[in-house]
Amino acid sequence: MDKKPLLEVKDLCVSYSGIHAVKSISFEVHEGECVCLIGSNGAGKTTTLKALTRLIALERGEMAFDGQSLVKLPPWTLVSMGMVMVPEGRGIFTRMRVQENLKMGAHLRQDPLAVAQDEERMYELFPRLKERRDHLGGYLSGGEQQMLAMARALMACPRLLILDEPSMGLSPIMAEKIFEVIRQLSKEGMTILLVEQNATQALRLAKRAYVIDSGLVSLSGESSDLLHDPMVRQAYLGA
Ligand code: ATP
Repeated sequence: MDKKPLLEVKDLCVSYSGIHAVKSISFEVHEGECVCLIGSNGAGKTTTLKALTRLIALERGEMAFDGQSLVKLPPWTLVSMGMVMVPEGRGIFTRMRVQENLKMGAHLRQDPLAVAQDEERMYELFPRLKERRDHLGGYLSGGEQQMLAMARALMACPRLLILDEPSMGLSPIMAEKIFEVIRQLSKEGMTILLVEQNATQALRLAKRAYVIDSGLVSLSGESSDLLHDPMVRQAYLGA
C-alpha cells in the first residue's frame, strides 16, 4: 500500500515501574482496514492500546494519527481527532440511561439532527438497546453493556474505532452478535483496530493481523495467511 496509514505506531516501548510490558511494537492501520492484535495473556496488547490512547506514558516510540504525532497530546483530544476506544471493561455510565449514554458519546458534535439520526441507527444496529433505551446502563447484561459501549463510541463518528477485548466475559451467543456487528461495520468501511482474545474470530474479522508476544511483534501479515500458519494455529487457535 503506498497511501500513508491512518495510524502509524513505531517502536513503542512502555514500562510499569521499570519492567517492560511493551518492548518494541510497530504496526499500522490504513483507512478502511480492520486490523487485529492477537497474543496470549500478558503479551502487551492492552498496554499498547492504553499507550496509543495516551492513558499511560511511553518510554520510547512514535505514534501518529493522520500524520499528526500523538506523543505529546493529552488523552481528551483524541476523540475530537476521530480516535475512539471502547476499553476492556466497557466503561459505560452505569447511572445513566441507555439513550443518555448514547448522547454522551456525541457530546462533541454540533449537529443535533444528525446525532438524532445516528441514535436511531444505533438502535437498528443493536435492536436490544432499543428495547432497553430507558434502562440505566448498570442494569444491562454484560453483552448489552458491550453493545452500549460500542454504540456510544460510534456516536462520536470515529475515523478509527479501537476495540479492546469486545467479547471478554460474554456468552458465545452474545459474543457472536458483537462479532457480527464488527463484521458489518468493517464491511461499511469503518477503520477498526481490534484486540481480541478469541484469535480465530479476530483473524476472521480482520484483514491484517499482528501477533504480539512478550511485548514484541513476533509475526504479522494477512489474517487469511495467519489463520493457516502452523505456529499461529498451535499457539493461538488451539489446533
Ligand atoms: P490480557 O489479554 O491478559 O489483557 P495483554 O496482552 O493485554 O493481556 P497487558 O495487560 O498489556 O497484556 O499486560 C502486559 C504486561 O504488563 C503483563 O505482564 C502485565 O502483568 C503487566 N501489567 C499490565 N498492567 C500493569 C500495571 N498497571 N502495573 C504493572 N504491570 C502491569
